[in-house]
Amino acid sequence: MSTTKIGWIGLGNMGIPMAEQLIKAEYPVTVYNRSEGKASQLMEMGARVADSPQGLASETDVIIIMVADDQAIEAVFEAENGLLKAALKGKIIINMSTVSPAISKKMAAICAAQNAHYLDAPVSGSVKQAETGQLVIMVGGDQSAFEEVKPILDRLGKLSKWVGETGAGNQAKLAINSLLALYTQGLAETILFANEKGIKSADLLDLIGNAAIGNVFTKIKGEAILNDQYKAAFALKHIVKDLRLAKDEGISTPLAKTALKTFEDAESTYGEEDLVAIFKALK
Ligand code: NAP
Repeated sequence: MSTTKIGWIGLGNMGIPMAEQLIKAEYPVTVYNRSEGKASQLMEMGARVADSPQGLASETDVIIIMVADDQAIEAVFEAENGLLKAALKGKIIINMSTVSPAISKKMAAICAAQNAHYLDAPVSGSVKQAETGQLVIMVGGDQSAFEEVKPILDRLGKLSKWVGETGAGNQAKLAINSLLALYTQGLAETILFANEKGIKSADLLDLIGNAAIGNVFTKIKGEAILNDQYKAAFALKHIVKDLRLAKDEGISTPLAKTALKTFEDAESTYGEEDLVAIFKALK
């Protein structure tokens, strides 16, 4: 069993299976989530539960955060019983949520002032990859801190890559999620166009899957459309957040603008469903 004590904050769709990987790898793991009742499965596997980020930080060495957005990060750090109320000296805080480079720079500076390290380390991949430790992890921040925690990240992903200073991981993730949005909208529009011309979705997806343009994503999301299965693995509201963050970072290309409008228009009806529900919105 490893002696590095890990604290895990955020038990959503991604946080639960990711924390599970670390418990399976025999790290001692303490978890915290804003709403109660999300930790029962992890407790059965041996996790301890903290009642606040402050309490969690006081009993762990490496703290990993997987929450929704910038506001959630602010709450985790700055709330009454937030991380900043604990003594953070010598700890490494890894923020794996998809957030803005700006919030990473702010929190990294606050951590540095306490002689702690902050790494931004968002992930590409969804629940399936989280469940099997096959995520792709892009990291910004101090490179030696990254090397120190790489064995932990390697339990969560098949590739953990340092890409630059604080915020670089977030920048890389926003670039990738812009492609994700374009790709999802493109797949939905392609199927709808083919259907209009009398081609069955199953036939079209079989063709795409065997063509050079086919990939794991078209297979998973194509099957979701075929099975009318839109339960969120990656909620549509989160891709709207990411496209807005990319816009804030200056993306202004034609497809990026179009995708933001398409997903924003769909958010009030389909925000809690998977991003592939854009198919229903366009239909
Ligand atoms: P999710 O299922 O919506 O879970 C969100 C988590 O954030 C929950 O634990 C939630 O706590 C917590 N949270 C939200 N607001 C908070 C606040 N103000 N204070 C404290 N905690 C708060 O999200 P997810 O799908 O796991 O995604 C987590 C992050 O990973 C997001 O940034 C997302 O963009 C990114 N991501 C997701 C996927 C995916 O496929 N799902 C893939 C790659 C990256 P409660 O339980 O109390 O609501």
